[in-house]
Amino acid sequence: MQPFEYRTPKNLKEVQQELKQFGADAKLVAGGTALIIMMKQRLVRPTCLISLSSVRGLAGIAEKNGALRIGGSTTHREVETSSLVRRRLPLLAETYRHVATIRVRNMATVGGGLAHADPNQDPPPTLIALGASVKASSAGGSRMIPVEEFFTDYYETVLKPDEVITEVSVPRLPPNSAGAFLKFLPRTADDYATVSAAAVVTLDRSKKIFSDVRIALGSVGTTPIRAREAEAVLRGQPVKAEALRAAAEKAKQAVDPISDFRGSAAYKREMAGVFVRRALEKALEGFKRVKSAPSRQSKRRGRR
Ligand SMILES: Cc1cc2nc3c(=O)[nH]c(=O)nc-3n(C[C@H](O)[C@H](O)[C@H](O)COP(=O)(O)OP(=O)(O)OC[C@H]3O[C@@H](n4cnc5c(N)ncnc54)[C@H](O)[C@@H]3O)c2cc1C
Repeated sequence: MQPFEYRTPKNLKEVQQELKQFGADAKLVAGGTALIIMMKQRLVRPTCLISLSSVRGLAGIAEKNGALRIGGSTTHREVETSSLVRRRLPLLAETYRHVATIRVRNMATVGGGLAHADPNQDPPPTLIALGASVKASSAGGSRMIPVEEFFTDYYETVLKPDEVITEVSVPRLPPNSAGAFLKFLPRTADDYATVSAAAVVTLDRSKKIFSDVRIALGSVGTTPIRAREAEAVLRGQPVKAEALRAAAEKAKQAVDPISDFRGSAAYKREMAGVFVRRALEKALEGFKRVKSAPSRQSKRRGRR
């Protein structure tokens, strides 16, 4: 590794000053789980690392106007274990739980993961399915970017060099909604996915018709992919197995995987269809659970 300066700003303003001083030669470092490996491999050679670990106000999870606001430096483990996230959006906690090992999750941050932009990562498909946005802040102000529009290519995003991810905002789910994330891991439990799929389903009041669906996939392209045509197949349709199969077929057409040591492109395309169908089925199971869960009244009756 080549020598580098190490800066530890205490607030966002100081981060901006450091970024201005060192320009494109500087790199932000959060958990360091991706950046340090890339530096060791000499894929990136920053002359200055600007640590975000002492920056006040960048970590934490809160609910504001119905949306969950997750600070950029919040760790994966904090999202996974947060009682607020588990209560409000269990799908999000479950997705972060799928990332690597506890050791990695204790270090890796929400902002660092998104900025790293590896298309094999787990959180992006779920964040896209949930309609989340990234808040990017620079000295010139801040902007909200839908996660769906955030990634542009392998390890590439729309972030500008002077922008810091300060927050990820995840909106409240509409009524009658449920979601699921599935990660296909044929090798080891802590591997990156061979294919991953997230689905968020909203049903009408009768719970028999899809009123809205959002589907996104990981590990099947240069970026996470939203399967819009698969969603369109389901909207307005009755909840039936053939509709799920038709959506799965459309999802297969939306992906563009590469062959690698996790499987051939053809295999991953097949699995994309299988996992979209299963993610939809799992999301729909969420409605059954709510329906069959005993009400407080019947529990009380049972105790008598
Ligand atoms: C062995 C191993 C296995 C893994 N397996 C998985 C897996 O299965 N699924 C999965 O989803 N993830 C997995 N990960 C984690 C993932 O790939 C990244 O390493 C992690 O999300 C990066 O987070 P970080 O906070 O450590 O980022 P860092 O390494 O600190 O930074 C990564 C990049 O983001 C930039 N950056 C950091 N913070 C910000 C910010 N707030 N604003 C703007 N830019 C920023 C940095 O400059 C750098 O370019 C794994 C990691 C390891 C080491």
